[in-house]
Amino acid sequence: MLRLKINGIVQGVGFRPFVYKTAIELELKGYVLNSTSGVEIEVCGSKNSLQQFIERIKKEHPPAAYIREFEIEKVTDISYTEFFIKQSQNRKGSTQISPDLAVCENCIRELFDESDPRSNYAFINCTNCGPRYSIIENTPYDRPVTSMKDFEMCDYCNGEYTDPLNRRFHAQPIACPTCGPQLKFLDKNFVEITGDPIVNAIKLLKEGNIIGIKGIGGFHIACDAANEQTVSKLRKRKDRPHKPFAVMCYPEKISEVVEINEEQYELLKSPAAPIVILLKKESSPIQNNVAPQNPNLGVFLPYTPIHHQILSDELPFLIMTSGNFHDEPIAAEEKELSGLCDFFLTHNRPILNRSDDSVIRASKPQNVMMRISRGYVPSPIKLPFKTVQTLGAGAELKITFALSKEDSFFLSPYIGNSNSKQTLDFYTDTLKKYKKWFELEPELIVCDLHPDYMTTRFAESTDLPLKKVQHHHAHIAAVMAEHHLGEPVIGISYDGTGYGTDGAIWGGEIFLADYSKFERLFHLNYMPLPGGDAAIRHPIRITYAYLLESGIDPNFLEKISETEKRIISKQIKNKFNIFQTSSMGRLFDCIAAMLGLFPEITFEAQSAMALEFLSGEKGISDKDNYPYNLEKDMIDIIPLIRAVANDVQRKEPLHKIAGKFHRTIINFTLEAVKKAHRKTGIKKVVLSGGVMQNKVLLEGISKVLLKNDFTVFVPSILPPNDGSISVGQVVIGNGKLKKRK
Ligand code: ZN
Ligand code: ZN
Ligand code: FE
Repeated sequence: MLRLKINGIVQGVGFRPFVYKTAIELELKGYVLNSTSGVEIEVCGSKNSLQQFIERIKKEHPPAAYIREFEIEKVTDISYTEFFIKQSQNRKGSTQISPDLAVCENCIRELFDESDPRSNYAFINCTNCGPRYSIIENTPYDRPVTSMKDFEMCDYCNGEYTDPLNRRFHAQPIACPTCGPQLKFLDKNFVEITGDPIVNAIKLLKEGNIIGIKGIGGFHIACDAANEQTVSKLRKRKDRPHKPFAVMCYPEKISEVVEINEEQYELLKSPAAPIVILLKKESSPIQNNVAPQNPNLGVFLPYTPIHHQILSDELPFLIMTSGNFHDEPIAAEEKELSGLCDFFLTHNRPILNRSDDSVIRASKPQNVMMRISRGYVPSPIKLPFKTVQTLGAGAELKITFALSKEDSFFLSPYIGNSNSKQTLDFYTDTLKKYKKWFELEPELIVCDLHPDYMTTRFAESTDLPLKKVQHHHAHIAAVMAEHHLGEPVIGISYDGTGYGTDGAIWGGEIFLADYSKFERLFHLNYMPLPGGDAAIRHPIRITYAYLLESGIDPNFLEKISETEKRIISKQIKNKFNIFQTSSMGRLFDCIAAMLGLFPEITFEAQSAMALEFLSGEKGISDKDNYPYNLEKDMIDIIPLIRAVANDVQRKEPLHKIAGKFHRTIINFTLEAVKKAHRKTGIKKVVLSGGVMQNKVLLEGISKVLLKNDFTVFVPSILPPNDGSISVGQVVIGNGKLKKRK
């Protein structure tokens, strides 16, 4: 007789009915129960059956379940005459919320089965699939505390809901056309249009309209990705001239669009159903203006019944972009998208908790998470050590917060990319919910050193003990936490912007770091950044300033006005409105604009991406190298800038310059790490920071470090960009606390 305790994501994902069915099949007796920490099982039966039972739970559990801990205890003196699902007595303190799950294959089959009572019903779901996080009001997860509470179950649904052998046993969002939510189709003024909403949507999408579609974590703005005019209409309306859009593909047609292997297809099909960035096929029917001047394309598969109803052979490719203005949070109601859409496909099941689609970049040897949100949050992630209850407040871009409790943390969904009131409201609102659901009251807040970040000001406005953490230290610590590293590392943080302890803007940093402190071993030499953030949107101004600083006559630059030249020269001469920066992101901007790529950018990292694409992924030889100086704690990039300027004026092919530039960074990084190793004896190297989203660089640096016997840790479940700063803040805040003790 055994007692099993299982925790992880095991509630609200069909775990109990699965255990029940398995026990019945193996003729075991006992019970299964949702407990405060997970699932508890007592079973008796033959030794052989018990063995099989454990193996089958581990191997065959429902796809959305995730087993973190599996405790087996032998007990005596208990016997049962049957196997049953035990009613939970006190479910208070049950602090698990499953992420939203893509619709499963069984439900899709029924969706298209004319004889099924839920045939063509847009809200079909079961214990293995459907909304979870997005419909929850409170814990423990139960229908009366979800946005399904106003839909009273009919007898048919109730029969399934209460039958332990049915795959909808205790599926909280269970619904059918008789009792559940209904679709509605609206014009741009929110007036209802008669007829079948799905038929209307398909017809109007094919005719080139832009339609707001209510999804799981928020609205998508949808249009036909094979219609160039519609795509450019969408770009104008969203005021988004170049930033790539993701495309939802009819599964049978996805291989026409991108290079894809089986593993990548499985990832797309997984319950989290993320957007995956893959190499675009040359012959792809997707219009060029979907992801202009970009060899890659973000693709995803239909993950709600509505998506499956709309996509078909005849309408196989839809842009499905987050329903928002610019970098604001995603909309949960159609009214918020007024002016952006021609029509709306909506419904009456409220979205209580918003989350954007998650984004993963396919990479070797590991994929890189670019945005961790729908399908992944709010699963707890384990930390390498116990913490006091802590809030990591996040940064300014790609805002998330992290709340820790004991040895785990809960990451917020992606909140937004701005410091607007809407972003702050979404932030504080989500924080309030997390504290309630996870029964968590922070005793410590940790924020960025930057005085002007919205998240810093928010942290300062509370009365709690506050610690401030250097941005790149947080970048490195987040990766250390992800890999449960316990000892100091050599941390490379190549990034755009981060406030340094000396007030300069850092971003090309190599640290000796642990969870409580860091030493700056190397950094790019300081260069003059004119006009702060304004220059970041006009990389050509950075080039101009960097060339002046390098003693090069910048007059060969073409895409800069006389006024801009005059102002920058004056600023540098008078040391007025000039910031000192060691940023790697700005070095990329400088070089890209010198090559004539995007003298002005419309989205973050646009020119850096162009430089990456130009360099290609092969054809850079180890010998192609620009000069640099590595002295004391400085990587002097002035020789590199001079040499590139020389190549540009000699009209060397751009892809060669771009490739050589990447190779140079890889080479000086290796040299700096070797020196750092000689000084510290450390062999573990962590790579992080927004610039590490650059695949050529991430793969290139990893490769040369591995070749030189270093152990390399790269971000994988957490993003390399500012989306994981909050996690780094949590672990450093606690590292500092521990050290004091
Ligand atoms: Zn299902
Ligand atoms: Zn029903
Ligand atoms: Fe950063």
